[in-house]
Formats: sequence, C-alpha cells, structure tokens
Amino acid sequence: MSCDDLDKLRTQSVSRHSSTWPLEAREHLESCESCSQLQKLLDNSVQSDVPDAILDRVEAAILPGLLPVSPLPSVSRITGALLLCLIGVIAAANWHLGVAGWNARDNLQISVNFSLLGISVVVLANILARQMMPGSRRSAPVFVYIAAPLIALVAADVALFGYHSNPDFVPLALSCWEIGVTCAALSAPLFWLALRRGLSLNPIGHGATAGLLAGLVGVTVLEIYCPYLDRWHITVAHIGAAIASTLVGAVIGSIKSRIQQHGP
Ligand SMILES: [Zn+2]
Ligand SMILES: [Zn+2]
Repeated sequence: MSCDDLDKLRTQSVSRHSSTWPLEAREHLESCESCSQLQKLLDNSVQSDVPDAILDRVEAAILPGLLPVSPLPSVSRITGALLLCLIGVIAAANWHLGVAGWNARDNLQISVNFSLLGISVVVLANILARQMMPGSRRSAPVFVYIAAPLIALVAADVALFGYHSNPDFVPLALSCWEIGVTCAALSAPLFWLALRRGLSLNPIGHGATAGLLAGLVGVTVLEIYCPYLDRWHITVAHIGAAIASTLVGAVIGSIKSRIQQHGP
C-alpha cells in the first residue's frame, strides 16, 4: 500500500480512526513516518460533543452531493497553454496586418525588442499560472513584475529608436493604440479559458498581470506590423496600449473581488 492509497482509504472509509482499518493500511502507517504523523493528529483530534445521530444526518445531507474534481493542471501546462494562445493571436493578427514593421527594423532593434518581449511574456505567463493556484507562494510584489517589463521596453525604445517628426502623429498613434488594445481584448478570453479552473487570492494583481500579458500580445503584433520607427510613437501608442490593458485588467480584477466579497 502506498501513501496515495492510504489517502484514498482515509477519504473513503467511514471512520477516520486507524484502529478500524485493514491490516495492510496499519502496516503502512507503521512503516511510513509522514502518514503516521498525520494519522496521529487525526486520531487525537478533539471529539465533538454533537450526538452521533445528528452527525449522521449532516453526513447524509452533505456526502451524496459531493463529486470528485480532477486536480488543477500543472504550472508548466498552464504556462504552455497561455503561450500557445498568445502565439495564435499574434500569428493571426500579423497574417492579417502584415510584417512591414519587422522589415523596417534593423537586426539590433529586432533582437533587443523581441528578446525583451519574449522573456517578459514567458515570465508573466508563468507568474499567472502560479497565481491561480490557491496556496502557491508569492513571488515578488505585483508592481515589480508589472513595472519591470514596461520600464525595460520604454528604455529599449528610447535607446534604439530616434525621433522622427510626423504631422500625422496623433492619428497614427490612435490607429496603432487601437490595434494593440484590440489584440489584447482578443487574447483575454483565451487566457480566461486557460485560467478559469484556478482561483486567485489577489484578484486585482492577477487581473493586472493578465491585462499586461494580453497587452504585450498587442505590443508584439504592433512591433511586427508598424514601420513608423519613432520613439514617441512606439512609447505612446504601442506600450501605451499595454499600459491601458493592464489598467483594464486591474479594474476587472477589483470588480471580481467585490463580487466575491459581497456575493453577486
Ligand atoms: Zn505513507
Ligand atoms: Zn505604430
């Protein structure tokens, strides 16, 4: 008998007390320290003074309604699912919009920008997958991993791109910003599908992280599509779309946490 078998027996058997268990199970308890420690705690747990008849009625009322649930997928599987979703959105969007931005950028701009985007996206997808596991350990405070990719991207833009004045600055910026926000909005339902089974204990931080990840999908699409290489345009329109999407994610998270606290 293994530790898992013993856990199963513990949940299925009528009595939590090991004295009534089959010999096999008691032998495992003697040989396994972690199981015996847990069982000692359960055996010594304080008996309630509620009459047995009432306990039986409570059990009869609750137990038939309980259904086994399958365990949450692992962090790496959820991270993989999130990355597949965002690669799908980027491929579909740039299939539609074209790759003029990729062609207009030189090798240094491409390697720095897309490395930064790639690292940020993988790290954020992993953080999101961890956040939705109740009881998972907190890594860094939320604002650190929200601010770090945005600051790195703005710094890279300022360093890599010059200033090119353009009388159509505002309409061009608005058009790119709209594309970025649309791509983020298209990614969000896919992320929800991948994350829906978990439960985040910090809905605002979780929403902001998901919003930023969706926003970075928009930034990546724009970097591949948009050939207007002006640092102000890229910062305001492209990264601005990711900032807007982060804020929307945080607001949705805060609405969700209010509903959870007060009931629908
Ligand atoms: Zn064991
Ligand atoms: Zn643009």
